[in-house]
Amino acid sequence: MLTCDRKGSQIGRSQGIVSLVGAGPGDIGLLTLRGADRITQAETVVYDRLVAAEVLCLAAPAARRVYVGKSPGQQALAQDEINNLLIREACAGRRVVRLKGGDPFVFGRGGEEALALRKAGVPFEVVPGVTAGIAGPAYAGIPVTHRGLSSAVAVVTGHEDPAKPDSDIDYEALARMPTVVLYMGVARLSDVAARLIAAGRDAATPAAVVQRATTARQRTLVATLGALADRSREEGVVTPAVIVIGETVRLREQIAWYERLPLAGRAVVVTRTGEQAGRLAAGLRDLGAQVIELPTIAVRPVGEDALRAAIAHVVDYDWLVLTSPNGVDRLFACLCDVGSDARRLAGLRIAAIGPGTADRVAQHGIRADLVPPRAVAESLAEALVAAGVGKGCRVLLPRAEGARAVLPETLRCQGAEVDDLAVYRTVVPGSVDRRVLASLGEGEVDLVTLTSSSTASHLVVLIETELGADVLAEVRGRVDFAAIGPVTAQTARDLGLRVAVEADDHTIDGLIEVIVRWAEATPDAG
Ligand code: SAH
Repeated sequence: MLTCDRKGSQIGRSQGIVSLVGAGPGDIGLLTLRGADRITQAETVVYDRLVAAEVLCLAAPAARRVYVGKSPGQQALAQDEINNLLIREACAGRRVVRLKGGDPFVFGRGGEEALALRKAGVPFEVVPGVTAGIAGPAYAGIPVTHRGLSSAVAVVTGHEDPAKPDSDIDYEALARMPTVVLYMGVARLSDVAARLIAAGRDAATPAAVVQRATTARQRTLVATLGALADRSREEGVVTPAVIVIGETVRLREQIAWYERLPLAGRAVVVTRTGEQAGRLAAGLRDLGAQVIELPTIAVRPVGEDALRAAIAHVVDYDWLVLTSPNGVDRLFACLCDVGSDARRLAGLRIAAIGPGTADRVAQHGIRADLVPPRAVAESLAEALVAAGVGKGCRVLLPRAEGARAVLPETLRCQGAEVDDLAVYRTVVPGSVDRRVLASLGEGEVDLVTLTSSSTASHLVVLIETELGADVLAEVRGRVDFAAIGPVTAQTARDLGLRVAVEADDHTIDGLIEVIVRWAEATPDAG
């Protein structure tokens, strides 16, 4: 047994600690606030199989991730080895998160780890999680207790062999419990059901299997206790699954809610981070989608000197034309750097390409004078010309490097003088979650949203460099893409991606709306 040698920890570093964190059953929205905080702060995350990729994504890119679950052809790490790993990491002064599916103390061996940590003198804390045996039934519309129907619930493992003579499970007692929730019970379902019936439980008791609960792949099967095992075999139940037995299962007919949401059963990847992605992800989640965030864009500032020079004589311009929230951010960061603020822009007329950019300018107390009807460069150019941009007009256009030429060219044709400044560059992020990336090629994802041409081109680069051309071919063949507007859609098509959904107004709300229409028209894979 390892113990923590305090003298061994580095000077100036606080002592390490292990947080035993419950990741919840799948839906990232069911992670606790404290759990999320500990994961984002962790230096080492030790996780096992049932932890959702979305939850793991919260960890810092630099955090060490250690998988200790089973993988094909390889045994899971033995419990002793896991305990020692936790002790070693904490003794090195690190903030360690031991991340487990559901709740760490419900069939999660969290108690054993806590005992080992205590014995080794390692500080630890427990952050409970939402357990699958309660959340799974809840997402299937089955309350585990209900006034008048069930006033007690037993939580049981089906992992144990019921034939074993010294079974810990008292089936007589269990048969009298109003609700029984069985974890790890699929393989032994027929034995367990037979035992319960032999111990006096009515074979006609309603029962349900909730598979892959709280994810886009959730499926619920309802039958009587006597028939459930056969029905599960016929239907090919997949794991993980929880089984719930008792009269409250009948309530599902009325209470089922999750599976009825417009985007239930849809796993959607959102390809960028930031505020815009946050709104898109939240909107899709509220409609029942499982959202996986996969940042494909990082923003790097460029053209600092030219931007500063433009700001120094900004009063000479007639129009400031902004074509993305990133451009707005760069402009205001630069204003701030030179000790100035929004007042410097007084007297300029300001155009924003669409509502997202206009909102960002509004955050600085400025209302855009012009927002074109469609959020594309062509529409913006047309609106500017209509607003009088022409001969003798001076236009400042701080935007992304490599942006299309149509806007400055149109304005120049009208005689305007355009300073087209590249102020930021979008690059492929330095690190990416390979587990999320791989899920694209494995049929785990139904739709990928693209909110700009670069999200599409970067995604293709990431898949090809990280996973190879074969996976890229899989993705091209099986995944549907949703583009925020016509330009993004065209880029995606040129890259060989299958664009199934295309918004025409280039807004997040518009994109969500067309995704709902796509879901109505597309049978659900689950
Ligand atoms: N600590 C976990 C349980 C781990 S034991 C918790 O509190 O939820 C593993 C069992 O949990 C699985 O065999 C299955 O019965 C159940 N389980 C975990 N995640 C599940 C999910 N998303 N859907 C259905 N069952 C799940």
